[in-house]
Formats: sequence, structure tokens, C-alpha cells
Amino acid sequence: MQDEVLDVLRERSGPMSAYDVLGQLRQDKLNLAPPTIYRALSSLTNRGKVHRLESLNAFVACQYDDHEHAWIMSICDSCGAVNEIVSPELLNALSGVASESGFLSTRHVIEIYGQCAACRAIEAKA
Ligand SMILES: [Zn+2]
Ligand SMILES: [Zn+2]
Repeated sequence: MQDEVLDVLRERSGPMSAYDVLGQLRQDKLNLAPPTIYRALSSLTNRGKVHRLESLNAFVACQYDDHEHAWIMSICDSCGAVNEIVSPELLNALSGVASESGFLSTRHVIEIYGQCAACRAIEAKA
């Protein structure tokens, strides 16, 4: 099940909700139940194969093979494309800033909204 869910997410460049994934897989498996999808998504998220976009309550496939650090997601307002950036230096800097006030960081969620390069190119031509 996890492999099938991962395939569905990889085919899409944008984020998908659990229900989007369910809808896609139900085309072949009519009696697929939501808890099955939630379990698969939660295992994939724990394994780092899939990341959850907190602000959208949606999921995307990891764009790297393996990474130990938190990710930074840029999300295009125009086309919905999501790009994953891994920058341990930036995360360390953020933790440093937070720790100046005595805060101990355990988890980073960084989501950047704007316009992707492809959409900007289209707009520049118009
Ligand atoms: Zn990743
Ligand atoms: Zn775009």
C-alpha cells in the first residue's frame, strides 16, 4: 500500500490531500477505506519518504533520496508546484536565533509561498 501511495504522490508535482490520494487509488480499488490511506501516509511520513505540508494539510513525495535535516518547501501560488530545499546551515541559523531567548528547537516547519520560476517566465512574456 505504501508503495502505491508513494507512486501516486510522485506522479504529481503538487501537494495532495489524503482524500486526493484516496480518490486516485479508488479508480482501481473501489473498496479502499480512508484509514488504510491514513496509515500508509503516516508510515511514509515517519520514514521521510513523504512530507506533510502543514499549512495546506497535504502531502508531497520527498524530492531527495535521503536527508536527515528538516526541509524547506517553496509553494507556487499560481500553479501549486512544490519544491523542496534542504539547507542545514539555514536551520542551524534559525535554531541559533531561537536559542538566544532560551528556546530549544526540536522541529522546523518552513513553508515559503510565492511564484515559481516557470510561472514567472510565463508572466514576463505576457
Ligand atoms: Zn525530503
Ligand atoms: Zn508556478
